[in-house]
Amino acid sequence: MTITTTTDTKPRVWIGCLACYNEGRLVGDWHDASDADEVTTADVHSRASSHEELWCFDIENIPVRREMSPHEAAEWGRVFDEVDEHQREALYAWVASGDYVAEGTGDLPSTSDFQERYCGHWEGFDDYARELADDIGLLHDVPEEIATYFDWDSWIRDLGFDYSTCGADTGGIYVFRAL
Ligand SMILES: [Zn+2]
Repeated sequence: MTITTTTDTKPRVWIGCLACYNEGRLVGDWHDASDADEVTTADVHSRASSHEELWCFDIENIPVRREMSPHEAAEWGRVFDEVDEHQREALYAWVASGDYVAEGTGDLPSTSDFQERYCGHWEGFDDYARELADDIGLLHDVPEEIATYFDWDSWIRDLGFDYSTCGADTGGIYVFRAL
């Protein structure tokens, strides 16, 4: 069975003023990551300010654990906007696993490679494999009295070499085709 979850996956960043921060004051607020590069220093200070540089001091739902510029945060936000909401957690897990395809030379994932590889959220690899066997009609032409003796364990084990999986926080696994 596939699993459907409704966790909050919207990438957000806490954008603050770097000059204020260096003076020991936290002046800033949370924003959707995709809007991060549109936030101005006037927004951050709630008035015109001579302070120029903004910085993302805290991040949420972005799969890298570090501070970043609002420009980079906006790129992360747009990457996650490109995939359907129900796939965002899988994209997050794919990047967090470290075993993913990056876009260019940075950390940002390639969403087209993600789409090509992602095979869904499943209780376990067995569930995915049995559904796949059904879909491709693996035992379609085999008489039932013979199909009973089919070695599922070894078929599923071999199939597993063509895939990678990562655990989902909400239970089950995300399955990816290894290309
Ligand atoms: Zn400031």
